[in-house]
Amino acid sequence: MGKVVIVTTGGTIAMVKEREGVVPYDKGNILISEIPELRDIPGLDKIELYEFANIPSPHMTPADMWRLSKLVDEILEDEEVAGVVVTHGTDTLEETSYFLDLTLKSEKPVVCTAAMRNIGELGTDGPRNVLSSVRTVLSPQAYGMGVMVCLNDEIHAAREVTKTYTSNVATFDSPGYGPLGIVDEDVVIFNRKSLTRERILTDKIEEKVALIKTFTGDNGSVLKAAAQMGYRGIVLEGFGRGNVPPDVADAVGEVIKMGIPVVITSRCFKGRVYPVYAYKGGGADLRKMGAIMSEHPIGQKAKIKLMIVMGKTTDIEEIRTYFERTIKRRTIEHG
Ligand code: ASP
Repeated sequence: MGKVVIVTTGGTIAMVKEREGVVPYDKGNILISEIPELRDIPGLDKIELYEFANIPSPHMTPADMWRLSKLVDEILEDEEVAGVVVTHGTDTLEETSYFLDLTLKSEKPVVCTAAMRNIGELGTDGPRNVLSSVRTVLSPQAYGMGVMVCLNDEIHAAREVTKTYTSNVATFDSPGYGPLGIVDEDVVIFNRKSLTRERILTDKIEEKVALIKTFTGDNGSVLKAAAQMGYRGIVLEGFGRGNVPPDVADAVGEVIKMGIPVVITSRCFKGRVYPVYAYKGGGADLRKMGAIMSEHPIGQKAKIKLMIVMGKTTDIEEIRTYFERTIKRRTIEHG
């Protein structure tokens, strides 16, 4: 059981700089497995490369994520496979890794990685990140840790990690949590395990879920338009504890009456979304109308989770149970 499969999807790690800018390189994914240092990792019998795609990660779709999840599960069924490294663009790595974290059946280690600097760029970080990720997969403590993200010598939990810097190699962070561990030289050190990790096994997903950010002066028309455009679930990124302007509150009420679940997140990326404020548009007011509090504040995480949960149920109260795990149930007057 010492085989590691690297599943490549593209991203800067497989890109080069041309005259007009940085673009995917057709041999970029192959180069990923040709890192000489990979040959010297103890316990590694074999590296196999599987090219899933060679796309920039803003091009990644929910259907791609779903296909990737099934592929990774299939690879992990092979008894010889110790785990999988997924290479990806950094822009939406937090979405794809969280999608895998929620949907994969296997507990074998899966580590997602990427690069901030392209193949020919001075100080390129791709090869080192791949090396650290393979080391992480092979760590005896990695089993059952959930899907991880490993870049810049840090290991993060997919549920907690987010891209924080547009350009710096130290871009991935887990605000409010910190990394699970580090890779130092050839040693992998885990300091903790994510206790909030969950798995939601489903046969299908709902792709038509929108993520909308509110703003000061918002009159709710964008939210209503999304519902009219046929989105079946909406994640609404509010302020602070999960609050929105008054006209948006009216729109939330209208959209919920159409049977569309509205999950409230926050533009703050630390802390819990919680129904504290009862003024118009406050979290408690929205929840009274049937809105769901995401608890985990990051909108793009809630969007991934809602797509998966809606593959299991479209009932708003059932959906609520997946998002409000730490909020006491109270009477909700809507419908
Ligand atoms: N735009 C690139 C992508 O996400 C950025 C990267 O890989 O770092 O594909």
